[in-house]
Amino acid sequence: MKTTHFERAIFLSWYCGRGDCKFCYMSTQKSKIKEPRKARRSIESILAEAFICKQLGWKIEFLSGGYEVFSSQELLEIIKGVYSIYGERLWLNIGALKKEELEMYKPYIKGVCGTVECINTEVQKQVCPSKPISEILKMFKACDDLGLKKCITIVLGIGETLKDIPLLIDFIKKNKIDKITFYRLKPQKETVFENAKPITAEYYVSWVKDVRDNFPNIEIVVGSWLDQLDEIHLLLEAGADSVTKFPSIKKFGSKYAKKIEEEAKKANHKFEGSLTRLPKINLTGLDEKIKQKVKEYLTSMGYSLS
Ligand code: SF4
Repeated sequence: MKTTHFERAIFLSWYCGRGDCKFCYMSTQKSKIKEPRKARRSIESILAEAFICKQLGWKIEFLSGGYEVFSSQELLEIIKGVYSIYGERLWLNIGALKKEELEMYKPYIKGVCGTVECINTEVQKQVCPSKPISEILKMFKACDDLGLKKCITIVLGIGETLKDIPLLIDFIKKNKIDKITFYRLKPQKETVFENAKPITAEYYVSWVKDVRDNFPNIEIVVGSWLDQLDEIHLLLEAGADSVTKFPSIKKFGSKYAKKIEEEAKKANHKFEGSLTRLPKINLTGLDEKIKQKVKEYLTSMGYSLS
């Protein structure tokens, strides 16, 4: 029986120095944030989240954050901290990193993510005006030199069409991409996509299936949204390996969480880890501040602690 699991992106900040990708929540925040250094999470909450991922059997999809929020040294400390709590090398999604930075992070990471977002270059330039693909390609070249893996993200519903699928196939082939995360657009308030019509499940499946048919070994992660969870079994059947973009702490044990596990079953996949059942959790040995944060998260997930 095939297996599947949940992948959780751990967010580090809610500010991004580029801040003008037209679909992104952070683009709505940039002008409102006067002190970018304050728009970042505390290290305790990041580490507490990594601890919960480990306990619940959730994979960390990547550490994710906007541009120009942390110095390289600060990021190194965060990466090391998460690595030591989680116990596995990580994926990073924190912009186009330089080779020197990748060298610093290399002992703790397995690879990096290039946020391509749209494979149609004309659309990409309009939607992400400050995020040139050339920067991502440069980072990927450094990954090849350093033996790091490469992942890309693609958002569907932002102006691409099915005719662009061959472009994606070529990109994956040419750049030897190891992992791809697909998202369906989540229309954000105050963006041009606020009232965008959602893509259909059929359209989503076409992208996933074509990538799987062309690349039997690539890792495919799919993000859905709460009102579209019916599509998960179709995406798994089309070749997706795992599911992301679910507020797994806030909605832990909810009807939505149950639905994801049911969808995995419907696709005849065994769901590893849990979005609905809390295991016995041992907090012994955790730093006091992290422990406090873990307790807050667990309480919001319905876990009663004495
Ligand atoms: S670079 Fe990333 S975080 Fe920044 S605005 Fe664009 S999508 Fe959002």
